[in-house]
Amino acid sequence: MLKGIAASEGIGIGKVMIIEDSTLEYTPKTVTDTDAELQRFRDAVDTFCEETEQQAEAVKKSAGEKEAEILIGHIYMMKDPGMVGSMEAQITGGQCAEAALEQVCDMFIEAFSSTGDEVTAQRAADVKDIKTAILSILLGVKTVKISEAPAGTVLVAKEVTPSMTAGINKENIVGIVTETGSQTSHSAILARALEIPAVLSVENATTKLSSGEQIIVDGNDGDVITAPNEAQISEYSAKRDAFLREKRELENYRGRRTLSASGEEYELFCNIGTPKDAVKAMNADGEGVGLFRTEFLFMDRNALPTEDEQFEAYKQAALVLKGKGLIIRTLDIGGDKDIPYLGLEKEENPFMGFRAIRYCLRNRDLFKSQIKAILRASAFGDIRIMFPLITAVEELRAGKALVEEAKSDLRASGIDFDENIKVGVMTETAASGVIAHLLAKEADFFSIGTNDLTGYTMAADRGNSDVAYLYSPFQPSVLIMIKRIIECGREAGIPVGMCGEAAANPMMIPLLISFGLTEFSVSAPSVLKVRKNISKWTKEEADKVADAVMNMTTEAEITEYLKGIV
Ligand code: PEP
Ligand code: MG
Repeated sequence: MLKGIAASEGIGIGKVMIIEDSTLEYTPKTVTDTDAELQRFRDAVDTFCEETEQQAEAVKKSAGEKEAEILIGHIYMMKDPGMVGSMEAQITGGQCAEAALEQVCDMFIEAFSSTGDEVTAQRAADVKDIKTAILSILLGVKTVKISEAPAGTVLVAKEVTPSMTAGINKENIVGIVTETGSQTSHSAILARALEIPAVLSVENATTKLSSGEQIIVDGNDGDVITAPNEAQISEYSAKRDAFLREKRELENYRGRRTLSASGEEYELFCNIGTPKDAVKAMNADGEGVGLFRTEFLFMDRNALPTEDEQFEAYKQAALVLKGKGLIIRTLDIGGDKDIPYLGLEKEENPFMGFRAIRYCLRNRDLFKSQIKAILRASAFGDIRIMFPLITAVEELRAGKALVEEAKSDLRASGIDFDENIKVGVMTETAASGVIAHLLAKEADFFSIGTNDLTGYTMAADRGNSDVAYLYSPFQPSVLIMIKRIIECGREAGIPVGMCGEAAANPMMIPLLISFGLTEFSVSAPSVLKVRKNISKWTKEEADKVADAVMNMTTEAEITEYLKGIV
């Protein structure tokens, strides 16, 4: 049995498919039979064009025409006589096909990246993609296609990236095992959103497991059972059935208001990453969206989304929500969220580096176009803007100033938007917790991002298993922060939500009820469970629990006590 972190509930029994990072190494050599080498190169280019055309067809069906056009553009590039001509000239001069391809591509990448112009820089990303694809063909490196995984597949990878999820067919993937990640890493969030059982941080999973072998993924306990015998298969099949039964029972909470046992009402929102997720949120009986992670619109593509493209996405989500609250968080890149085509510089300490609101305030065009897109969409629903990673009042002021600037641009062009749009702060840094009383005076709402708040308060990276013992929202320091943020919000008369993963934790719920949280934002599959858990507590009982907890000294003491009462 292999041990890891239980990151997405449920039991999956299936056959392993290893997703390896392909290495594209080769030794450059001089060729004598240049005609044969030219033919090898041309065959590879033909294969590339055929495969890309098929991919474009598939993308057109799953994602849309615009996305497919990016791939068609790759084919045009490889039909361009300038680029291919230079490669062929190098081969005729005695270079091997791999080296000729790489040299010419690198030259174009360099030229495109150095202009400083965003659109041209995207061409560099396109050339990089082409280079990788054709090199893989020349070297005979097979890239595994997740979308073609057969029914009953368990994906095993170093990490599940947001771009990989595009290919995941929920019907066929019964489990996910990764070598890295924690409860709150993006692999975990994505697995939960897809409702696929997942165990993360399993050491050397990609080498210990082999493609085709049968395993059991226990996403409840964080176990991966290898070579299961008959008895284990029937034991876990029974567990899987019980889990699915409990899920059905939760259906009793569908269509109800979210009330505590003493009648206080809460908003129960969902976290989403795409307009399609908004549909899932509504199907899951969410009462709104407390966090739209907009970076997913920027990932898995080669160029920045335009203002119009963003507007369409936000508008689509707003229309799905039919007037229910929709909190859109502005771009939160950096840290564990990379967008290759932005060419962010590698930093010593990326989580404390040039990211999120810091990056946006320095890249005003990009930021303003996102804000304008959100404002334009606000004519179609109850949209609110939220800034990530705020650490100082100046950042909130600068963001709000840009919102005002964007508003006057739109006014001048006669474009409709919500004049009274609310602008809030994601309180997810230690600094924002400490100055919550100052931020509360200038923000329209708070949403507590416990995933980062825990990390930044404890100085413990959320993806680092060596410091995982410190990374807990039940650390007294984190609970003090949470309580403080809620109290400062209440004193200023602004609503305070929580969109970090802790909002769905049954042990956290009585504390949040007692502190006075007004909105819970959780993943779609957690909605009914959270509604059930909130319904168990009266305000009075919750206050008693919170009193006891806030008088305890250690995380172990707190969690042991809370485990005993939920
Ligand atoms: C958080 O930090 O708690 C949060 C919800 O945002 P993300 O997980 O996207 O960083
Ligand atoms: Mg965060």
